[in-house]
Amino acid sequence: MTAFDKWFQSIKNRFRPKKRGFELVEDIPNQHFSDVAALDEAVDSLRSLVDVLRHPDKYAQYGARAPRGVLLYGPPGTGKTLLARALAGEAGVPFYSVSGSDFVQMYVGVGASRVRELFKKARKSGRAVVFIDEIDALGGRREGGNDEREQTLNALLTEMSGFRKDEGIIVLAATNRPDKLDAALTRPGRFDRQIEVGMPDRAGRLRILSVHSQGKPMARDVDFERLAADTVSFSGAKLESMLNEAALRAARRNEGVITAEDVGFAFRSVVVGDEKLSTGRNRRERELTAFHEAGHALATVLLEPESRLSRVSIIPSTRGAAGYSMAVPPDRMLMTLAQLEAHIGIALAGRAAEELAFGSSSITTGAGNDLMHATELAARMCLEWGMDSDTGLVSRQVLAQFGAANGEVAVKERLGRVYGMTKAVLEEHRRALTELAETLLDREWLDGGEAETLMRRAFAREEIKKTAKVAI
Ligand code: ADP
Ligand code: ZN
Repeated sequence: MTAFDKWFQSIKNRFRPKKRGFELVEDIPNQHFSDVAALDEAVDSLRSLVDVLRHPDKYAQYGARAPRGVLLYGPPGTGKTLLARALAGEAGVPFYSVSGSDFVQMYVGVGASRVRELFKKARKSGRAVVFIDEIDALGGRREGGNDEREQTLNALLTEMSGFRKDEGIIVLAATNRPDKLDAALTRPGRFDRQIEVGMPDRAGRLRILSVHSQGKPMARDVDFERLAADTVSFSGAKLESMLNEAALRAARRNEGVITAEDVGFAFRSVVVGDEKLSTGRNRRERELTAFHEAGHALATVLLEPESRLSRVSIIPSTRGAAGYSMAVPPDRMLMTLAQLEAHIGIALAGRAAEELAFGSSSITTGAGNDLMHATELAARMCLEWGMDSDTGLVSRQVLAQFGAANGEVAVKERLGRVYGMTKAVLEEHRRALTELAETLLDREWLDGGEAETLMRRAFAREEIKKTAKVAI
């Protein structure tokens, strides 16, 4: 190596970015518990840890073994990461975060040493929150043969049992599959505290919407109560992204406020994707779509009157849907057998309407997603919820553990039966189906209320015709 080379090398080294093992966020987050809405129990439970993080020595002085690991479990987007960051922010300590799936996917062969590196860094700052997202990827039930995962998991367990009493490090892990976790993780001294982070109910959604509308110039015509009612099955993340979408739209328009129309647009864009502007579809496809969506809408009104139709449209979306019929189901925790069958019927009604209107050789691929949804429900009814007399009161999940499971016949039978029933109901109200489809062809989309009124008027005329027939 010449002198020049040496000099050049030293310059290069000086400016080479510091080698970073993997994504480590080590700032003190600026989130606080006040940024978390509708998770009161989870926040209460974490609040006691703030003191542990702030004054670990105090706990050591009393000989107390402070909690080390907390498992947050619940569906994606419900605020688990937010809670972890808020805990660190509240205590004023650094936040180190990594995802379990990174360990197994990206760092093959180095998982265990990465874990040690992560904890070394956390220890250096003395007090910290370490967040492991998707811990199920790392600590899933051992299924033999995956050395990599096993070693990484063992390294994590070793690190956690090696904490000194005066160290203020708390490990938060998140998963949406708590049932998949290795029992070793939940033993005392490890993730022995478990907090459920569930989907928000209507009141919770209202609070989340209010947190995220802070700092946004919302117009007075935005009805938050109604929005909270309409966003059934939206997670906190979905609500946040909806309001953000609305704000983006308003900013592009630049008229000073975010209007109800912006929010409505954002709502649909979150649920079905953006509407495609150029609709180069032929007449026949539009007709098929109109009947398909009218079928869903009609079945909703007939089979599930407790839900509210919010919009029927044959404008294709950028996510590949030819149209949609959107309804707001009531907030509920349990579903009955009858409600489930109604749901299956609504899903199958698109196909049933195509068949009724154009004959069995004109049915389309547009029902693909509907069939997936219907099959899933029927399968879970038969094989998970014990709602089928043929398959009986068995849980397929448990049976599978013993290497025995079947039930395809029962699922098919159920789907076939509900399909037949749905088709018969639609046929009985063919007039409403046709009128709705024709109006859709004409106007592209209808507000849910309008669509319902239209169908109810048609029902009334059907009644008159029927009684007239009887009279003759
Ligand atoms: P998870 O980790 O459960 O998948 P996140 O914490 O990453 O969910 O949520 C993503 C975003 O959604 C948060 O940063 C926040 O903006 C919003 N969010 C989710 N849940 C809530 C909540 N309960 N309160 C306020 N905002 C929330
Ligand atoms: Zn459909």
